[in-house]
Order: sequence, then structure tokens, then C-alpha cells
Amino acid sequence: MSDSREIMEFDVVIVGAGPAGLSAAIRLKQLARDSGRELSVCVLEKGAEVGAHILSGAVIDPIGLNRLIPDWKARGAPVDTPVTDDRFYFLGPAGNIRIPNLLMPPLMSNHGNYIVSLGLLCRWLAKEAEGLGVEIYPGFAAVDVELGEVGQVTGIITGDMGVARDGHHKPNYTPGMVLRGKYSLIAEGARGSLAKQLISRFGLAEGRSPQTFGLGLKELWELPKAQHRPGLVMHSMGWPLDNHTGGGSFIYHYGDNLASVGFVVHLDYRNPYLSPFDEFQRFKTHPFIRPMLEGGRRIAYGARAITEGGFQAVPKLAFPGGALIGCSAGFVNLPRLKGSHNAILTGMLAAQSAFEALGEGRAGDVLENYETAYLDSPVYKDLKRVRNVKPLWSRYGTALGVFLGGIDMWASQLLGFNPFGTLKGKGPDYAQLIPAKRAKPIVYPKPDGVVGFDRLSSVFLSGTRHDEDEPIHLKLKDSALPISENLPVYAEPAQRYCPAAVFEVVASGEGPPRFVINAANCVHCKTCDIKDPAQNIIWVPPEGGDGPAYGTM
Ligand SMILES: Cc1cc2nc3c(=O)[nH]c(=O)nc-3n(C[C@H](O)[C@H](O)[C@H](O)COP(=O)(O)OP(=O)(O)OC[C@H]3O[C@@H](n4cnc5c(N)ncnc54)[C@H](O)[C@@H]3O)c2cc1C
Ligand code: SF4
Repeated sequence: MSDSREIMEFDVVIVGAGPAGLSAAIRLKQLARDSGRELSVCVLEKGAEVGAHILSGAVIDPIGLNRLIPDWKARGAPVDTPVTDDRFYFLGPAGNIRIPNLLMPPLMSNHGNYIVSLGLLCRWLAKEAEGLGVEIYPGFAAVDVELGEVGQVTGIITGDMGVARDGHHKPNYTPGMVLRGKYSLIAEGARGSLAKQLISRFGLAEGRSPQTFGLGLKELWELPKAQHRPGLVMHSMGWPLDNHTGGGSFIYHYGDNLASVGFVVHLDYRNPYLSPFDEFQRFKTHPFIRPMLEGGRRIAYGARAITEGGFQAVPKLAFPGGALIGCSAGFVNLPRLKGSHNAILTGMLAAQSAFEALGEGRAGDVLENYETAYLDSPVYKDLKRVRNVKPLWSRYGTALGVFLGGIDMWASQLLGFNPFGTLKGKGPDYAQLIPAKRAKPIVYPKPDGVVGFDRLSSVFLSGTRHDEDEPIHLKLKDSALPISENLPVYAEPAQRYCPAAVFEVVASGEGPPRFVINAANCVHCKTCDIKDPAQNIIWVPPEGGDGPAYGTM
């Protein structure tokens, strides 16, 4: 396969220019600089530019940044809004209860954290990386790995460009390249398409709980000055979600009259009629929330899956020829709703391990040191002490589950042990839906265009673009199944879980309904790949550069 492709050789190839990938690249080059060694490092990014596909809250714990670039402040990192007010609410349909900060386990405190745009932070990290000599290639999607004689990963294959929907080569056809690396670090974020292949190929998830996810939806708002409270961080649970659907909201005030307004729905929800997008729109109509937004302007929209399996779901990290870093492995601390610090830290750990291996003249083997370093790292501790929160939440619902999770976290922090031991999750998200005939249909209010909006105007604000004449990047293993099985059993939930109106069931006159895929709308959140009950939808990267064009998400 690789014979007809251009080949470029590097010491380390990194897939994904998020916090994990960029931190690994920076660390490798810092280590090389400090020891006077030459080292070639490249980073591939499927977005048209670095940050174009980054979507996060984001309140960041600066532990990672402090270790990576201790003088980040002096170097002008876009990290300017310290958290000054940290609030947690439980919402009912018409009212709210503020949970006193004193009742929250100290590890949940946001004191010392900062509100940022993770997209902007990644753009800044990319400049730092380039300043150290890292080669960054935005607009290149990694679609496959190259394997060596003993099955080790020897490089990364990028996608072909200029292929028409029917498969023929257009005049601008350019075959993908092979970027050969002595080690390849996979930093694709949640539900990476290569990570998924590699986890399966090398059995990396054996003996671990299945990874689970949430769908995070986010809007960026510009608020009237009088309504803006820079440094305010608000989280809520409860309404509009019912007690057995996990999730909650976040509102972070930062920068120049900006507020990140977001909502996460755990993808282990059961009711196939549920629409995470519409739950988010409904949340904003709450009498406590609406006045915070009215008079403001929504300026951006996007959605992205977030890993929630935590400690029990972290797979084996290293495989022959490479390793998983950041959310490709799933290092999000769910109760803190934070993963970017762990993405940075694991990128640094893998970089250190690859650097040492290269110094010993090794290539293509398993970076066992990375695994050992993880076990001894703050990432491991961060995840271990909150390990029961999601399983308790899923098992007992929001009211009791979160209360029990709080006790578990308090005990862990005060007494050094978790009374619930190590609980297992419910299983994979795709297996949780109940049949539509046993579920209650949900009627969502029509969006008012003031605080609530429809999907299509939202997708417009994500800047998403795909060439209409390229192969559909949402592959169906069985093209008949959405209508033959998903529709009668689950009322085809893809129509509702997709936050970008990609999937439709269209009645066609007298004939049977058709399953339509509007692939051009896709914001690359990966929910379909996670939640389809038959695991029939496979998300693969479209042409490099396609997808959302997030500015400062
Ligand atoms: C709604 C939401 C809110 C969040 N809030 C917070 C928060 O407040 N604080 C916090 O710390 N964390 C938060 N997180 C989690 C945090 O965003 C992640 O932990 C973090 O972004 C993970 O970094 P990463 O580098 O592993 O992956 P990502 O940030 O996802 O970056 C992956 C990069 O790889 C690229 N890529 C993927 N596949 C390919 C491919 N095949 N080829 C080329 N490029 C590829 C992507 O385009 C992307 O640029 C939130 C997440 C979400 C979804
Ligand atoms: S098609 Fe899939 S990946 Fe794309 S936006 Fe919809 S659910 Fe997300």
C-alpha cells in the first residue's frame, strides 16, 4: 500500500494537535534541546488549522501547563481569567438550590484554575512547538497506520485528497502520504478513529471497563457588559434531565464579555426519544438561566464527545511502535469536568519515554516506561480518587448517585480510601437504550430564537464545511439496518442524538422510508460512532481540512 505513496521519515509522529499532541511535541523538542540531540517531530491535524476542531469548556487546572512551560504567563499564553467565583446548583423545573461550596469535596474546588478558550490555547501551544522546530501539518487527517514486519506500527498514513463521492479520482487527486516514525503518538481526543483501531488490534482494553462518553454541546455568547461577571464558574445538575439521565450544564464568564455556555449529556441515557441538543436548548429557558443570556448574542456553536469512563476504563497505553495520550486513552476527571491538564501531563510522560527509548537506539517497541510513569503520576491519582462517581451516578440516578459519589470523594480525600471500593460501570453506551415502545416520547418546545435555537442555524455557527463531492465519511456496515431494525425498535435515535442534523428518516411517498445522511453537516463529535445501538455507524475522517471551523471554542 505504501509503495505508491510519498514517504517522510521522522523520529516521532504525533496524530492530533490538541493539548496532548502539542505537549508531547513540545516536551520532545525541549528534551532534545537540553541534551544537545537532534530529533525530528511532526504533528498531523485534521482541522484546517490548529484549534479548528478543538471544543472544550474550559476551566483548566494549570498543573500541566506549569510543568510544560513554567513561564507561560511571561510568554503570553492566552490564560487570562482566573476563577473568582465557583458555584454549583441543582435545578428543578422552576427553581434552583445552590449547593454550598463547603459541602463540595475540596478536590472539586476551582480555586487557582483559569477560564480559557482551549482552541486559543492550542494555537499558542502550536506556536511554541514550531518555535522549537516541530513540524505541524494542519489539514491532514490520519486514516490508517503502517505496520512493520512483526506487526509494530511504523508510521501513519494520511487520507487521499481529491476523491469523488463515487470513488473516482478528481483532477486534484493526491494520494495520502506515509509519515514514518520510530514511534507514533496517538492524540486524537475522545473516540479517536485510529485509537479505536489500535485498541482493538492490540487488545489494549482487555480487562478494563468499556470506555463511556458524554456528548458536550457548547455555545459561545457575547453578553451585555452589565451581565458579565469575569471569573464566574457555574455548574448545574438536574432539570431538564430526569433523575436517570446523567449530565449537567456549565457557564464560564471570561475574556471580553464572553461566556461559554454548555451542556453535557451522558451517553448511557436510556430513552431513545431523548435529544441532547434539545435538552441543551431547553436548559437555557429555565427562569434562573434565561435572564443571564437575554440581551446577549450567541456567536458560536459546536459539539464534541467527552470521555467519562475514567480510571477503570483507561486502556493499556503503549503498543508496539507507539502510545495513546490524552483523551485517546480517556483521562477526563468527570466530577471536575476536566481533562486538558491530564492530556498535557500524559503527552509529557509519553514524550519522556519515547525520548529515552530513542536515546538507547530503540524503535518500534512498546514504551513500557510510559505505562509505569502513568501509574506513578498525578494523573493516576487524579482519576483514582473520583473513580466511583460515574458508576454511582449511572446506577442510582442523579439525586442519590451524586450524593453517594460525594461521600466517596470526601472519604477518599479525608481518609485516603474509597468506601465503595472500585465499582464497575453499566457497560458500553450503545447497549443502554430501551426499545421505543417502552419509552416515553419527549416533546421539546419550539426554539424561541432568543435563547433557544434549531439545529441548522446552530451548525451554521460552527463554520462546518465538507466537500459535497467526497466519499461519505459516516460508513454504514449494513445500509439497510437503520430502517429495518433501528427504526422499528428504537425510532431511529440517530435523528435525535446527532447534534448537527446529519441523520434523517425521510418518508418517500408510498415506498418505505429512507435513511438520509447529510454528511456535510457533521461537526466531528463522534456520538454516532459511540451511541448507535447496533454499532453500525463508523465515523472515519473526511478529507483533511473539512469539518468545523471553530474560532475560539
Ligand atoms: C463540552 C466539553 C467541555 C469540557 N470542559 C473542560 C474543562 O472545562 N476543563 C478541562 O480541562 N477539560 C474539559 N473538557 C475535556 C478536554 O477538552 C479534553 O480532555 C481535552 O481536550 C483532551 O485533549 P486531547 O489533546 O487529548 O484531545 P482533543 O482536545 O480532542 O484534540 C484532538 C485533536 O486531534 C485532532 N484529530 C483527531 N483525529 C485525528 C486524525 N485522525 N487525524 C488528524 N487529526 C486528528 C482533532 O481535530 C483535535 O484537534 C471538556 C470537553 C468537552 C467536550
Ligand atoms: S454525524 Fe456523528 S460525528 Fe457527525 S455530528 Fe452527527 S453524531 Fe456527531
